[in-house]
Amino acid sequence: MNILLTGGLGYIGSHVAVVLTEAGHQVTILDNLCNCKIEVLDRLEKILGRAPAFFKGDVRDQALVESILKEKQINSVIHFAGLKAVGESVQEPLMYYDNNVGGTISLLKAMKNCEIKTIVFSSSASVYGIPVYLPYDEEHPTRPQSPYGKSKLQVEEILKDLSDSDPEWKVVALRYFNPVGAHDSGLIGEDPAGVPNNLIPYVAQVAIGKLEKLKIFGDDYDTPNGTGVRDYIHVMDLAEGHNSALLYVSENTGFSVFNLGTGNGYSVYEVVDAFTSASSRKIPYEIVDRRGGDIASYYANAQKAKKFLGWSAKRGLLQMCIDAWKWAVLH
Ligand code: NAD
Ligand code: UDP
Repeated sequence: MNILLTGGLGYIGSHVAVVLTEAGHQVTILDNLCNCKIEVLDRLEKILGRAPAFFKGDVRDQALVESILKEKQINSVIHFAGLKAVGESVQEPLMYYDNNVGGTISLLKAMKNCEIKTIVFSSSASVYGIPVYLPYDEEHPTRPQSPYGKSKLQVEEILKDLSDSDPEWKVVALRYFNPVGAHDSGLIGEDPAGVPNNLIPYVAQVAIGKLEKLKIFGDDYDTPNGTGVRDYIHVMDLAEGHNSALLYVSENTGFSVFNLGTGNGYSVYEVVDAFTSASSRKIPYEIVDRRGGDIASYYANAQKAKKFLGWSAKRGLLQMCIDAWKWAVLH
């Protein structure tokens, strides 16, 4: 199949580009480079032996998207392009709604004009909000707490309305949990600008000596050891989930939503222990106040993806840390 990855030079998209190319698909990437580096394209060439087709541009440029869809005879789109920093979305909500919601509407218009009606969308576990019960299954109420999470839910609703309006649309929204780790070549991985907000990139920089110590945001949560619990998922497992979702979506009309998580929750202390083993480095830390807006614990019920996509995550926390460490050392 000919597949367009919007935002395909970013963290998740670049790993999906590897998996899909290796599965025999023709991958085309559209990215405006607002949160990635063009060198990722060379890295993909090193891994794959050839670089995917690449267009620098914005997903909101409908004419450009239509020309790419036609030129590359695209069959399906995976829509990663968007902004993802929860805190920034609180400060700059218009920027988030414009890019994440406006960008998707523009993309969908382009697809409709080109009669391409198959799309996989990068949604997020943040659509669920404060847990009513755990693990979150796909039926859990959706009450996102930030403009970022709301933008993801709004796009899901738009996709649902679109597929209700026209039975030819084939749509899957994937609600990712916490993607971490990197390709085992160490050539691509997560490359946050400035000081990382997320736990594992921060821990990696402490291990390598770029940052002095980890600040653990609270050890008094109602969790087994008091620190926050998340469902970390290896980015290569996540990428393989997209291959399964593509097969599913090409055979099923309508709108479906799937959690992509492991189903396991790990605490901050467990992550620090695993990273210490993976890196053989000490990870100094101190306990500080809770981070505003943090949820104590959340993790996925991953059964629906297993049942309908035939997919489940295979790599454990240690592997996630080994690959995150390799990436931190090599890049
Ligand atoms: P990322 O920032 O690394 O990748 C997104 C890519 O999209 C970047 O390369 C960026 O340059 C590009 N982009 C952004 N706006 C664009 C636009 N208007 N036009 C063209 N390109 C644009 O992020 P990621 O971690 O790879 O996330 C991919 C998707 O998955 C995002 O939609 C994100 O919200 C979602 N998601 C990510 C996580 C996570 O923790 N990483 C969790 C849940 C959902
Ligand atoms: N965390 C932490 N110190 C950090 C970054 C994160 O203690 O520097 C904790 C955070 O409070 C949460 C967990 O690690 O319990 C995962 O945080 P992350 O930002 O990676 O994911 P999110 O909270 O967005 O799911």
